[in-house]
Amino acid sequence: MGPPASGKGTVGQKLSDRLKLPLIQVGQVCRNIPENHPRYDEVKAEMDSGGLVPQDIVAELLEKRVKEPDCSNGYILDGWGRTMIDLHYFNPGFDQVLVLNLSLESAIKRITSRRVCSNCGEVYNIVYIPPKVEGICDVCGGSLIQRDDDSKEVVERRYKLQWEDAVNVVTYFRDKGIVLDIDAEVSPDEVFSSVLSALKL
Ligand SMILES: [Zn+2]
Repeated sequence: MGPPASGKGTVGQKLSDRLKLPLIQVGQVCRNIPENHPRYDEVKAEMDSGGLVPQDIVAELLEKRVKEPDCSNGYILDGWGRTMIDLHYFNPGFDQVLVLNLSLESAIKRITSRRVCSNCGEVYNIVYIPPKVEGICDVCGGSLIQRDDDSKEVVERRYKLQWEDAVNVVTYFRDKGIVLDIDAEVSPDEVFSSVLSALKL
């Protein structure tokens, strides 16, 4: 768990490679809904319009997904359990919950410094991964632009929406003694080392 730009996706993928456990991402599970599912059209329509897939369907798809053989030794879940209602629909019984702590200021800094190539889609960050020539894509020479979604206002809204609601769930997990707090203010490599040591790997 963690706010936008805290590195959840990166940590999830690295852990998945390291532990040889599948990474289950809510978005992907929804995209892979079978065409013969009775609510296929509803899910597709929500995904296409950028809306939220109803929690009961997500819960059903997730519950089915984690029963597949590749999850028999465990799995890493990204994107579920941000609200108590999520857990009401499907509570996987987490062994450990990694909380990537990142301030709103840092989330804004990370996201507003993103640039994307208007031609090939390569992603840069003018603070952390700058292009060789300012404003120009290293890969194809296209010009770099800032996505509308990467504005300060959008980040503030997403941070509040995604993270401030998650506080209740984090408290619930903390009371169970399964929260591992990670400082996500540092570089991706340092974040991952803290994750490994928190998990005693
Ligand atoms: Zn490019």
